[in-house]
Amino acid sequence: MTFRSLKLIDPLLRALDELGYDEPTPVQRQAIPAVLAGRDLMAAAQTGTGKTAGFALPLLNRLTLEGAVEPLGVRCLVLAPTRELAEQVYGSFRKYGAHVPLRFGVAYGGVPIEPQVNKLRKGLDVLVATPGRLLDLQRQGALTFAQLQTLVLDEADRMLDLGFAADLDAVFAALPAERQTLLFSATFPEAIRALAGKLLRDPVSVQASPANAAAKTVRQLVITTDKKSKPDLFLHLLRERGWSQVLVFAKTRKGVDQLVGLLQEEGIRADAIHGDKPQPARLKALARFKEQDVQVLVATDVAARGLDIAGLPLVVNHDLPTVAEDYVHRIGRTGRAGATGEAISLVAADEVELLRAIEVLIKQVLPREEVPGFEADHRVPSTGTPSKPAQAATRKPAGKPRTGGPAPMNSAAGKPAAPGAKTPAAPRPAGGFGQAPREAAKPARRIPQGTVVVAAGRGAKSAAKAAAKAVARPAKKR
Ligand code: AMP
Repeated sequence: MTFRSLKLIDPLLRALDELGYDEPTPVQRQAIPAVLAGRDLMAAAQTGTGKTAGFALPLLNRLTLEGAVEPLGVRCLVLAPTRELAEQVYGSFRKYGAHVPLRFGVAYGGVPIEPQVNKLRKGLDVLVATPGRLLDLQRQGALTFAQLQTLVLDEADRMLDLGFAADLDAVFAALPAERQTLLFSATFPEAIRALAGKLLRDPVSVQASPANAAAKTVRQLVITTDKKSKPDLFLHLLRERGWSQVLVFAKTRKGVDQLVGLLQEEGIRADAIHGDKPQPARLKALARFKEQDVQVLVATDVAARGLDIAGLPLVVNHDLPTVAEDYVHRIGRTGRAGATGEAISLVAADEVELLRAIEVLIKQVLPREEVPGFEADHRVPSTGTPSKPAQAATRKPAGKPRTGGPAPMNSAAGKPAAPGAKTPAAPRPAGGFGQAPREAAKPARRIPQGTVVVAAGRGAKSAAKAAAKAVARPAKKR
């Protein structure tokens, strides 16, 4: 199938041609005809599936052919949970709409509102916004929704997670009832189903790939270690494995800053992206990372939502996320649009329940490794098989759809893997890794000259650890 056969207008086909998109992805094949026909849509599509073009292309098509915007007007509103995703989606509209005569804008908090107000004066065909700032603009009379024809909710699950439910209700109340509504969500917990039941009229259901499934092109690995060893282990791996561009996730803003501080002390080009950073600094960090001016970008989950970094080879979870679905989003930053990628999680004993919850969600037991010198003193217990449902942090599995509501979208989290389903080998017994991991084949290279290594007997492990750490973090001045 080609984009031309989807009946998109020539200026859009030209932009796609320039971008080198040869054929529509599965979500685009399903969504484009439905949106062009003016239908409501309920789409289970994770990032990396091409979902943005799935709604942007047909909307650009319709907006170009159907009328023009008036001052203060907004014809298509896209709501996104975070500034980064809003920027991302706005960038996509500009990219795909490079040859159509439409006006695009983006609005989010944390930056001055005036430029956004000014941009709205002539009206916008497409406004991408976070809910809070949108309401501020509306209350100031900076825009009107009288011309609104389409509402898109992007990453709707995340908007609810971030506490936007009341803001969303206020936005819905301000919009014309006669409109097209498209809802995109990676997961479909009950609250999303309820929202869909309320907002969507006879929606077309689109499912790009099984929800909660990690992209098959991402090679996943767990490296067990102690909590306190994680920063040094990361540094060691960065050097040892020659990682050139790596996106790292840490649990807290403080954790992000600490890791960035450590890396910078070691002369590594690292930057942070989290909610405490002003928006311009976040965008700059992202731009520098994309240009590979920065080698390591360390982020929290919220800030990283929606990041699209072409060809990103590696994501490292310095800490596991407390909500299992976030694992899928995190590792979805790599392996996008069919490219291969790697996702490595550093896991300490106190994270075993989080690991179990992730494995239940993705229906895989992740392969484990240990790195010599960084083995866990506090063993990370085996998570067993994924058929054992965990009580930990997965969100509630989706319930039955409401009568008359949209069809179920979600492969239920927490169900055992289907019989015959391909699962990787069970984890090796915790702490007892029979096989030497990759590094073990070349230990000599890592031991600095003059270091005495106790090869066996009491103290062997801690001495080896100290030796490896000395290499991971050489003293700045010797
Ligand atoms: P998304 O899931 O919308 O965030 O898109 C993921 C990535 O896939 C983005 O970098 C897009 O530019 C790219 N992409 C989207 N559609 C296509 C396509 N049909 N062919 C090639 N790349 C695409």
